[in-house]
Amino acid sequence: FHKLLEEKQAPLMISGPCSAEHEAQVLESFEVLSKLKVDIIRFGVWKPRTRPGSFEGIGYKALEWIAAAKKKFPGVKVAVEIASDQHIREVLAHDIDVVWIGARTTVNPFAVQELAYSLKGMGLPVMVKNPINPDLALWVGAVERIMNVGITDVAAIHRGFSTYNPVKYRNVPQWQIPIEFRHFLPEIPLICDPSHIAGKRDLVMEVSQKALDLNFDGLMVEVHPDPPNALSDPKQQIYLSKFGEFIDSLVLRREKFVDEALIDRLTELREKINGLDVKIIDLLAKRTGHIREIGKYKKDKNVAVYQPERWKEIIESRPNWAKDKEVSEEFITELYKLIHDESIRVQTEISE
Ligand code: PEP
Ligand code: MN
Repeated sequence: FHKLLEEKQAPLMISGPCSAEHEAQVLESFEVLSKLKVDIIRFGVWKPRTRPGSFEGIGYKALEWIAAAKKKFPGVKVAVEIASDQHIREVLAHDIDVVWIGARTTVNPFAVQELAYSLKGMGLPVMVKNPINPDLALWVGAVERIMNVGITDVAAIHRGFSTYNPVKYRNVPQWQIPIEFRHFLPEIPLICDPSHIAGKRDLVMEVSQKALDLNFDGLMVEVHPDPPNALSDPKQQIYLSKFGEFIDSLVLRREKFVDEALIDRLTELREKINGLDVKIIDLLAKRTGHIREIGKYKKDKNVAVYQPERWKEIIESRPNWAKDKEVSEEFITELYKLIHDESIRVQTEISE
C-alpha cells in the first residue's frame, strides 16, 4: 500500500462489485475499472451473510473467472475477502493480490489470530475492516495480530458501525474512531468504505468526500453493472457506467496550504484562536478556584459533594444559552459533563 501511495501521490481507489456473480460481470468490471485506472478491483467471493438462505457467494469458481480475467488484463490487481485458512489457500492458488478481513471476522480475536498464522510468510498484503461494533481497541488489536506475524503490508478499512436503529446511514460512521485509530497506528494506510457506511447509492458520494476531507488514504467503493439486480447489497452499489463521473466529482484536498495569502489568513485566525484558548483556560482556572471554595464550605457544613438539583440546573440551562449564540447544544452538553466531572473530582479531593 505504501508503494502504491508513493507512486500515485493521491488516495487509492479500490472498487468492484459486492460479489462476483457470473463470468461476464467479472469481465465487465475488469474492462471498465481498468480503463478508469482503479488501483485494486474488489470482489466478494465468499459472503458473510447475516442470515442463512441469502446468496452466500460463488466460491472458488469465481476465483477461476477472476484468474482468467487477470490474464486478459495484465497488471490489474484484485482484492478478495477471506475468513478461513481454506479461503487463504484458494486465493493463493488463484493469483489474488490482496486480501481483506471483513467486519464480522474482525470482532473475533480467535479468528483473526488463526488468519494471521495462515497468512504468515505468504506475501499477501492484508486490509483489516473495523469490527461491526464501535470498539477501537478490537480494531487496533486485529491489525496488531496481523503485524505481529511479520506482515508489514497492512491497511485498515473504516466501514462504519452497526446500530439497532439505523437513521441516515446503514452503519454509523463515528468518524472519531478512525481518527483515533490514526493516533494508535499512524503508519497504517486508512481506507474508507463509503458503500457499507451509506447503505444507499445516493449517499455514497457525500461519505466518500468526507473521508477525503479527513485525509483518508483511499476509498473502497462498491460498483456493479446492474445494481438493482445485484445478488448482494443492491441498494448501495454505484452503476459501473456512472463510476467515471463519480471519480471525477471527488474533490482532492491538499494536506497543506500553498497559497501565501491563505497562509497569512490562516496564521491570523490561528493567532485569534490561541488568544481565545488562553482566555478559556484562564476562565476555567477561575471557575476551579470557586469550586475549591465551595468544596471547603461543603466539607465544613458536612454537605454532600454531588448536588443533583444543581447539576440539573446546569445541564438544562447551558445548552440553552449556547443555542442563543449558535453554538451546538450537543457540544455544550458534552463539555459541561466534563466540566462537572472535574468539579466533582476537585471537591471530592478536598472533602477527603
Ligand atoms: C463487503 O465488503 O462486501 C462486506 C461484506 O463488508 P463488511 O465486512 O464491511 O460488512
Ligand atoms: Mn457488500
